[in-house]
Amino acid sequence: TQSSDLHNITILGATGSIGQSTLDVVSLHPDKYNVTALSAHSNVDKLISLALVYQPDFLVIADDSYYSELQQKSAQAGLSCELLSGNEGLCHIAQLDEVHSVMAAIVGAAGLIPTLTAVNAGKKVMLANKEALVMCGELFINAVNKSGAQLLPIDSEHNAIFQCLPENYQYGDLHRSGISKILLTGSGGPFLTRPLDSFSSITPDQACAHPNWDMGRKISVDSATMMNKGLEFIEAKWLFGLGCDDIQIVLHPQSIIHSMVQYADGSVLAQMGNPDMRTPIAHCLAYPKRIDAGVKPLNFVDMVDFSFQVADFERYPNLRTAIDACAAGQYATTSLNAANEIAVEAFLSGHIGFNQIATINRNVVEQIQATQINSIDDVLALDSQARDLARQHLRKACA
Ligand code: NAD
Ligand code: MG
Repeated sequence: TQSSDLHNITILGATGSIGQSTLDVVSLHPDKYNVTALSAHSNVDKLISLALVYQPDFLVIADDSYYSELQQKSAQAGLSCELLSGNEGLCHIAQLDEVHSVMAAIVGAAGLIPTLTAVNAGKKVMLANKEALVMCGELFINAVNKSGAQLLPIDSEHNAIFQCLPENYQYGDLHRSGISKILLTGSGGPFLTRPLDSFSSITPDQACAHPNWDMGRKISVDSATMMNKGLEFIEAKWLFGLGCDDIQIVLHPQSIIHSMVQYADGSVLAQMGNPDMRTPIAHCLAYPKRIDAGVKPLNFVDMVDFSFQVADFERYPNLRTAIDACAAGQYATTSLNAANEIAVEAFLSGHIGFNQIATINRNVVEQIQATQINSIDDVLALDSQARDLARQHLRKACA
């Protein structure tokens, strides 16, 4: 399958929702894209079935304890891919010489090091893994600038903003670019109208049933608590060099507008489309060209009315915590991301109630001492300190 005029892609997190959507777009354009490497956390069967279709040269299973199962099943399936495991394996496929683009679609902090490896190798990095940027925005952006990597946003809101910014936008120069505000839209998730006094009985399956988007379970819970919008607020700050006051969150329950840029002359540019991640994925894959994403075109005649409202912090306490953390600085957003990963996992496995996610997050961020972050080691140390603290709160909550 290797050919010099094809664009070679590594997909980190190939077995997830974004990974699958990426492969769906790639499948529409066999004349343009070639899958060089795929990774999964532990789902060997799914990884093998993807390998049979896309014939990559490398397969990586992130959890080492599944490596022998991968070897066995790969041989049984008659595959001749090179097999790797662990963080080392992920980093190897993130920086292969023959790879042009890396889709960073691992969920959570686990994606940080492989994504940074792709950045340091100067790849075109298509960033879905927003947690990586929330954990160490400044170091991450510095690494992009140093290596000359091309960073393209997959997150639908950021992809929309990217599309609506002027072509000559200078990082951080909002006002010189004639922009007055970035309008970050969000649907409000599945509990936009649910009575607040019933939030304590929300189940994981209810939280994961998003009205407009079909996503992995962690980001689905984040969407229900609106921590997702909080993480996106921080992500936008680093991607586009914004101050906290430059971003306004607007609820738009229909998810047709994916975010907007408001200009000084009163113009507002919006990017619209059906809520389908194949659109931003196709945009990043082909950028600056355009390709078919397999997405149904918008039909304005049949469209439901658009509505907009403000996000209320009583319903979405995580949103306030995230915005406060963004203003407080890098140590606070690193801690918040870590606490949230622990809290969401505990909610998904039935150990805590829905409301306790926000309580644990707030407590951890308030308890972590402000500290300077100068290196990735600092980030990882703080991440693990915040996780320990979150687990302490968890034990108290479960006692
Ligand atoms: P998912 O849970 O469906 O998939 C996650 C992928 O990461 C899987 O391939 C899994 O095997 C892998 N993975 C999980 N834990 C890992 C670990 N410890 N080490 C290595 N690999 C691991 O998640 P998703 O919905 O595809 O989201 C992926 C990322 O994209 C997240 O950061 C999410 O916030 C972001 N994102 C997703 C969407 C969406 O519509 N799904 C939209 C915007 C942004
Ligand atoms: Mg998003």
